[in-house]
Amino acid sequence: MIAFDDITAPRPVYDETAARYRVFEAELSAASSGEAAAEVVRRWDALRRELETWSNLVNLRFSQDTANEAFRKERDYRDEIAPRLTDLDVRVKRLLLAHARRADLEKQFGPHAFALWECDVLAFDPAIQEPLVRESKLCAEYDQMIAGAKLAFRGETLNFSDLVKYREHEDRQIRHEAEAVRWQWFAENRAQLDHLYDEMVRLRHGMARTLGYDGYVALGYRQMNRTDYGPADVARFRAEVREHLVPLAAELRGRQAAALGVERLMLWDEGVEDLRGNPVPQGDHDWMLDRATEMFDAMGSELGGFFRLMRGGKLMDLKNRDGKRFGGFCTSFPTHGVPYIFGNFNGTKQDVHVFTHEMGHAYQAWRSRGKVLMDTLWPTYEAAEIHSMSLERLTAPHMEKFFGDDAERFRRIDLAQALTFIPYGVAVDHFQHLVYERPEASPAERHAMWQEVERMYLPWRDYGGLPHASEGGLWQFQRHIYLRPFYYIDYTLAQTCALQFWARAQRDVKDAMAAYHALCARGGEAPFQDLVRSAGLASPFEAGCLKGVVENARRALN
Ligand code: ZN
Repeated sequence: MIAFDDITAPRPVYDETAARYRVFEAELSAASSGEAAAEVVRRWDALRRELETWSNLVNLRFSQDTANEAFRKERDYRDEIAPRLTDLDVRVKRLLLAHARRADLEKQFGPHAFALWECDVLAFDPAIQEPLVRESKLCAEYDQMIAGAKLAFRGETLNFSDLVKYREHEDRQIRHEAEAVRWQWFAENRAQLDHLYDEMVRLRHGMARTLGYDGYVALGYRQMNRTDYGPADVARFRAEVREHLVPLAAELRGRQAAALGVERLMLWDEGVEDLRGNPVPQGDHDWMLDRATEMFDAMGSELGGFFRLMRGGKLMDLKNRDGKRFGGFCTSFPTHGVPYIFGNFNGTKQDVHVFTHEMGHAYQAWRSRGKVLMDTLWPTYEAAEIHSMSLERLTAPHMEKFFGDDAERFRRIDLAQALTFIPYGVAVDHFQHLVYERPEASPAERHAMWQEVERMYLPWRDYGGLPHASEGGLWQFQRHIYLRPFYYIDYTLAQTCALQFWARAQRDVKDAMAAYHALCARGGEAPFQDLVRSAGLASPFEAGCLKGVVENARRALN
């Protein structure tokens, strides 16, 4: 059994690491056989795993306590050294791409690794090291601002995680107050948030120009390691969402208004589906983990055994605390082959989502831990989100464990929200395309861009005079827009796949689970659409895919 406390990795010293890389470079250049070159690749990979484990530990500790000075300093050190380590990696990747024995190496490590390295090489040059360090600092600043927010609400001081339960409260007045408090904080911090993003956009555009791109969009796609689709495919997918899904989502919002007995659905109503309020898990953190153990056991020995390993090894931190980063994520320690999940339970149904979602990532990381190269332990993000979002869907039949008699209501709400999420997700994506296509735009113009995409994808939305949000500022709460440009579309592509898994499980659970396990075991050995098709799913970029998904869901909801 691997326990979290036993996981350590040496803190890298740049000069020593660079010396080891120089040896790899010399050996690779001299390698005259495929086997000799492959042997160097394996040693390089072992060092990269060590560096990755260290980096992920540093990030995890900072996320667990963003106010801790020592953790923040260590994260700063990591952010400063990271672009220089990337430089070392890129030099090796360049050698591999041009290697005389490349064909032998491709046979051994797979062609996809080479496609990924090609992206990495085209997305980096030592000339952008400094802006990369600056970008990391701005990202940490955003996280610290959000994590440090102290919100005065009905005599309590809350953070954004605490506030969620009031935003979803059954009492409309409380929901409205919670939203007013949330957006008031943003209104008060608008200048700093605008300034942060403005600097990020200019930095990213500048890096793209330095690397010879017209603008950041192309570089952003490369940084996301997208090898089998581009902006035109994504634009077509967004158009399909407008055509097939926005009307259904609008209809669902209309039903929601009727169920809530309100004339107009306001922003503060969107998170609640009926007058009973949202179903909530019927116990606390420890109780949830006990129910999860039962649930995963019932889903088969693979998931059951894996969850016991995670729990036994203390490979999770799910309790909400002050200073802890908002949201959830899964990380991994490739030297030890184990993942770790992070979240902030707040007593809402969100807890079940975040938990099953991050467990899906973790399970995939565990299943594919034996991949020879670090590059293929995880797939690219849109494929990785299939594992997580599908597990949210595949655990649906077991929700009685968490919600008791309210489970059926949870399932209906959950399906409706999975669908209404997609228009929001593509709006976030479309917004970023607009932003990076016009990097010189002013902060005020960016807020207008957000309002423009809202009209396209979220036509029902009504802020009723809430501060900040009613002036086009909602996007500033979306962390990915600041920290992970162009990531967000990945959730919508993955949701389109997860909904296919769900439809399949309705017909035949065994078949769906078998395909799910097999997909997880493939890790990142192939690009997105290849992985999707191998699991018997249609690619979201195929004409008619989304339409079929929407029709299925519409039937289930009626
Ligand atoms: Zn995820």
